[in-house]
Amino acid sequence: MKVEDIRKMFPELSEKVYGKDLVYFDNAATALRPFSVLQKWNEMSSRHNANIHRAVHKIATDATEEYESTRDAVKAFINAESREEIVFTSGTTASINLAAFCFGESFVKPGDEIVVSEEEHHSNIVPWQMMCQRKGAIIRVLPIEDDGHMSVSSLKTILSPRTRLVAVSQISNVLGLANPIKEIVRICHSLDIPVLVDGAQGIVHDGIDVKDADCDFYAFSGHKLYAAPGTGVLYGKKKWLEAMPPYMGGGEMIKSVKFSGTTYAPLPEKYEAGTQNIAGVPTLKPAIDFVKSLNDNNLIKHEEEVSSFLYKALTSDPRIELYGKPRKGEHKASLFSFCVKGAHHEDLALILDKMGIAVRSGQMCAEPVMDRFGVTGMLRASLAPYNTMEEAEYFIESLDKAIGMLI
Ligand code: PMP
Repeated sequence: MKVEDIRKMFPELSEKVYGKDLVYFDNAATALRPFSVLQKWNEMSSRHNANIHRAVHKIATDATEEYESTRDAVKAFINAESREEIVFTSGTTASINLAAFCFGESFVKPGDEIVVSEEEHHSNIVPWQMMCQRKGAIIRVLPIEDDGHMSVSSLKTILSPRTRLVAVSQISNVLGLANPIKEIVRICHSLDIPVLVDGAQGIVHDGIDVKDADCDFYAFSGHKLYAAPGTGVLYGKKKWLEAMPPYMGGGEMIKSVKFSGTTYAPLPEKYEAGTQNIAGVPTLKPAIDFVKSLNDNNLIKHEEEVSSFLYKALTSDPRIELYGKPRKGEHKASLFSFCVKGAHHEDLALILDKMGIAVRSGQMCAEPVMDRFGVTGMLRASLAPYNTMEEAEYFIESLDKAIGMLI
């Protein structure tokens, strides 16, 4: 399979923007969806539209089978120990909120500490802050170094006997560097501290083997992985998911409801109250198949070539400051956040948009990262395997023109 074959699978790539071919470089915000995902989504709404886990009729059992076989596919994809460890949510944000709330209820007391890193997305900061406020606990921050690396060497000094959990991203959505998750887990586990990994970007660029990583929780979104929006996963080790109380109460998360007291359903239903995203969740199956086909067909290598061209072009331009520089031998995910001295990121993004190029501008839901580097926002170009070298060259030429218009 070549990149042209992949492009044919994504209808949105034939869109024109202001009469120009769309160059979609905003994949870290959300990826485009292939026909296989769109078909499954449509099929779930037009042929298997029934509520799951409830009725005994044929279309309800078909819908349940689609939903539950997706759980098996996700379990295999991330190499979880059991399907009970896979909880469907509406996305990374929902997954982390669930974990933070429930973990807090069970294990956090006044004066306890939760460690998050400075490079986290707001979704991996605010739920912990909210829980800490409720429980009288404290947030401690693992800093970022000047080259954009998480300061793992500071971890040992930040961890204390009061640390209850460490929450870090696998790959930051701004800096694009892979954090040493296994090392972080090893250090934390040596002190009996569990680790939650925000895999929103990591699952796309590096994948995950949760058994090998040995993390306690892992959160990701379907929409960044080519599946339907409003889908996501919280992986949790069984011992934690069993020990924590449910997040929401409602239909299907119960074993028995009496006014004298309610008992809860076993895992994972305990955490899936109410009608689920019955049309969206099954799209994770074709999305996972698509991701596997990329690995099988060496298309990741193609993306790396385009990515390394962009990295070189952006870092060799003295007008540009790129954040998140890989160290020797390290790999950077194909997402590039940068500032241009004297040109506002939003102005640049608006000009690029007129040239048909979709990039992200602003704080990227990571205000502490902006503060760390003393900027109000950045411009981010993020790739997917369907992006071509021609698009990357056009982007660099267009960026040069846009900068020329502003400074
Ligand atoms: N964490 C990271 C690292 C992300 O990139 C994102 C999405 N930008 C999120 C969390 C939140 O994901 P969602 O909005 O899909 O819940």
